Amino acid sequence: MNLVEEEEVSFEEPTFAPWDGRRVPVLLLGGYLGAGKTTVINEILARADVPIAVFVNDVGQINIDARLIERQAGDTLDLTGGCVCCSLKNGFLEAFDQLRSRATPPELVVVELSGIANPSAAAAFASTPGFSLDSIIVLVDLDQFLDREDETSVVADAVRAQVRSADLLLLTKRDLVSDGRVERVTSRLRELTPGTPIVLADSAHSIAGLVGLGARRPVLQIGDGTSLFDQHTTSLVPIGGTMHRSALESLVANLPSEVVRAKGIVQIETGELMVVQVVGKRRSIEPLPMAESTEPTDLVVVTATRI
Ligand SMILES: [Zn+2]
Repeated sequence: MNLVEEEEVSFEEPTFAPWDGRRVPVLLLGGYLGAGKTTVINEILARADVPIAVFVNDVGQINIDARLIERQAGDTLDLTGGCVCCSLKNGFLEAFDQLRSRATPPELVVVELSGIANPSAAAAFASTPGFSLDSIIVLVDLDQFLDREDETSVVADAVRAQVRSADLLLLTKRDLVSDGRVERVTSRLRELTPGTPIVLADSAHSIAGLVGLGARRPVLQIGDGTSLFDQHTTSLVPIGGTMHRSALESLVANLPSEVVRAKGIVQIETGELMVVQVVGKRRSIEPLPMAESTEPTDLVVVTATRI
């Protein structure tokens, strides 16, 4: 018998585009309980120099993680007492409503999903007027992951669903495990989700670099000592003026496999400006909304050593 009553989702899509059609990128951060999501979010907030809104989802009544987020650095909305991909869908949609009602959008929304959430299910809500899904990054706890898979089928199913939803997998808790453990976890992840980049979250700096590219002004940060990105892993692919769409598509499709993140604004032969976004497996080329109009850029590329 199912004791949890499904909440009715009652949400009306606004008929107008907020913020003149701008779309705020939404980063979904998933991973089972204890994988280190709060630490990652605090790193992002500590290093970003743009306004970031953070949704913190905790299925319990008391949102411990929300208390651990450094509030002064960000703009945190607690989503407590349910999971945003299932029992708290309404709360999730209302949180976007709350942001939409503001005169100025944040530059990025980071959603700390609950430990049990299926990021794919939550992703459906991120592409709502004024927002677009930027990426799904899932943390994998090297110390716990294989044990989770041996637990009850509910837990095992949850962790597998999380891993399979990811555009990029970040391995955490490296300091707690042996090299052999890293190897075993990595080969299991490759079985579960072939082709998804697996990156060691070995330094806070690299984490911030990987997720920071979701913000809107990556190019301005390059070469600056206070860069969001690790200088060792950030590079530029020069774009010499206007490109044919087909050439751009093949450039993006053929980026080397070490590329875990890329972003740029490129003018194509029709004169249209296109936003290029790469996050692990997710690769997109979409028209730039009018309200975000800006000069074309080179392609900013973050490479990381894939495991
Ligand atoms: Zn859920």
